[in-house]
Amino acid sequence: MTDPTPQDTPTPAKRGVPLTELTAWLDTYLRTADFKDWSNNGLQVEGNSVVTRVAASVDTSERSIEDAIASGANLMIVHHGLFWNKPLMVTGPHRRRLQAALDAGLSIYASHLPLDAHPEVGNNAMMAFALSLQNARPAFGIGQMGELPYELTLQDFAERVQKLTGEICLVHGGGGGTGVHRLGIVSGSGAEYITQAAELGLDTLLTGEPEHKHFHDAFELGINVVYAGHYETETFGVRALAARLEEQFGLPWQFLHLPTGL
Ligand SMILES: [Zn+2]
Repeated sequence: MTDPTPQDTPTPAKRGVPLTELTAWLDTYLRTADFKDWSNNGLQVEGNSVVTRVAASVDTSERSIEDAIASGANLMIVHHGLFWNKPLMVTGPHRRRLQAALDAGLSIYASHLPLDAHPEVGNNAMMAFALSLQNARPAFGIGQMGELPYELTLQDFAERVQKLTGEICLVHGGGGGTGVHRLGIVSGSGAEYITQAAELGLDTLLTGEPEHKHFHDAFELGINVVYAGHYETETFGVRALAARLEEQFGLPWQFLHLPTGL
């Protein structure tokens, strides 16, 4: 007689991790309570009580929720969550997002500013590390500043960033031919920090999304600005956090790449 049942060897991932244990760890690790933020950070949607698989996404949308469920995840960690300090009627797309998540038992944990600013897995710390920024230190509230190991032309620097993100950068050479050495980094929407970057004596600011009202600042203050995309500059944190969760709890994870082009 043969036994067709395969040997079942339980792994940490199969047993899973209680959601309460995971969210408590995330709240502490990210120092969620220490940030004043217009995002309601933390566990926004409570799904299954046990987590066996994680999805990481920059945004929460019907599409990212669908993809997370299809990947078999029961926890999705996001940078941009569903709740932003303002009560929302549970209608239209908001209802569909919530219903899909709840029907599938998918929890959603959001971390906005805490995940921009985090010294180990933050969007800005991860970009600083990827660009080999020396003497990297916090700046602009959530960002980083430091020096590249050697000066690059603005074009070469933009190409390095493009290799990192896989997307074309928008380059404003306000420095008038100055290369890139003293660099500031602000993930997401950081054009408002151009003035502060110039005051700090930086030659270049790397940020995500341009704003028309700040176009002239760079040229009048003589500083380069490289816009690498709001989405693209914020993929670093959720990926690093998911990898950190795997290290801590043995949970498999998947990054949901759903670029906005913005
Ligand atoms: Zn953002």
